[in-house]
Amino acid sequence: MKPFNTDNIKQLRAEIDKLGGTIVLVPHINPDGDAIGSVLGLANILKNAGKQVVVIAPNHFPEFLKWMKGSEELVVYVNAREKAQKIIAEAAMICCLDFNHLSRTGEMKELIENFEGQRVMIDHHPYPQGFADLELSHPDYSSTAELVFQVVKAMGYEQYIDLAAAECLFCGIMTDTGSFDYNVSDPQTFNTVSELLALGVNPEDIHGRVFDNYSVDRMRLMGHCLSECMEVFPEYHAAVMYLSKETKARFNYQKGDNEGFVNMPLSIKDIHFSAFFTENDDQIKASFRSKGEFAVNEFATAHFNGGGHRNAAGGEVFDSLKAVVDRFRKLLPEYAEELKRTKLD
Ligand code: 5GP
Ligand code: MN
Repeated sequence: MKPFNTDNIKQLRAEIDKLGGTIVLVPHINPDGDAIGSVLGLANILKNAGKQVVVIAPNHFPEFLKWMKGSEELVVYVNAREKAQKIIAEAAMICCLDFNHLSRTGEMKELIENFEGQRVMIDHHPYPQGFADLELSHPDYSSTAELVFQVVKAMGYEQYIDLAAAECLFCGIMTDTGSFDYNVSDPQTFNTVSELLALGVNPEDIHGRVFDNYSVDRMRLMGHCLSECMEVFPEYHAAVMYLSKETKARFNYQKGDNEGFVNMPLSIKDIHFSAFFTENDDQIKASFRSKGEFAVNEFATAHFNGGGHRNAAGGEVFDSLKAVVDRFRKLLPEYAEELKRTKLD
């Protein structure tokens, strides 16, 4: 097992043991499979241990994750602000999962900042902000879900991991590794998966629930983006794709329909840097992916108000789609040497 700070784990166990009130679990804004899998996985485990738990997400989460146990009770902050504020005001602990900066909690930021109880963070992103009283920060983990599994075991709560919790955690690992495509060089990840399968998880079933769940419109949108909205820059080993509001309307776009598009150009031979820009009403959402050494989190921080992991990052900008794509094109020469040098892991 990767090393833990055992004092942190002991402290977490002690805090949870003596806790009288509710534990609020919070994923990041626009939560993905790992964020929702981690909060609901941990929620199920803590409930099995007799704890009072509420999950509050900053905003809505994708339909393809709504099979998870506990998802029906999840409070969406922007839909129930007063209710969520009351729960937080009376809570004993807030546990933040799959993010390490409060800016990733949207409208919930001040509430968490001003919270007077215990603040815990369990996360696998680099460069933690340091907002929590107790931080379990492990950037060497594939996913927060894998980290949650190991933390829960180290806490002595293994017996509370039931099938429902195991399914949530499996989903987190599966989605954050692109179905075991990247961030899987550590054998521990597969040991964790193996233990989850031993608890009864059916990987084909979970994969199907998440990935074989798309609409016809989404399939056609993907085809359109690949054929009409992708530019490849072989000299920089890079590609960019974009999705305008006009295209969204044409294909009856539903939130989340662009999930995974950013990864597609990486399937092209010798392309190891991919950018995807989506035009929303109030901003342009940027997503970046890379293979190998090229650090897209640094790229996102430097140019797109964002951050993330070395090989998966995002950000947002407030400009026209055309200007943003243009800016991206113009940045590539600056990175020519780095992109050429990049070795694949
Ligand atoms: P995605 O491209 O799937 O939205 O995001 C990939 C990863 O980039 C996320 O897991 C998250 O770590 C990071 N990320 C995405 N958007 C932002 C953002 O606006 N700010 C920061 N700091 N990180 C982001
Ligand atoms: Mn994650």
